[in-house]
Amino acid sequence: MTARTMARLQRRAIDHTDWCARDHRCGIDTHRSPDVIADATGGRGVITRVRAVDRDYAEITIRVRLDHRDPIAVRQVGLTLHLIRRLIQGVNAMRPNSLTSGTPRPAIGRKAA
Ligand SMILES: [Zn+2]
Repeated sequence: MTARTMARLQRRAIDHTDWCARDHRCGIDTHRSPDVIADATGGRGVITRVRAVDRDYAEITIRVRLDHRDPIAVRQVGLTLHLIRRLIQGVNAMRPNSLTSGTPRPAIGRKAA
């Protein structure tokens, strides 16, 4: 008797976006932007915008230089985790309307009556 898997992968293809790389980085149901690199003294961050099915998110890889002394490195790792948590909270706390550009702001430029 042979075992047969009856399950099928049910992945719905989604179209490329305006911002995705449109190359090998994109999959059937995931689209990825080219990497954006943020260099800083002592480290580097790589940010990629990703659309997975119906949700966009930023995928971030960060390299932070640590001290060679273990007790200090452990504290630096803890601080890094804390700051990453704050970053996530800060970005998600922003009101989307405050981040739009080109939004008509009728009060600007209007002469007082
Ligand atoms: Zn794509």
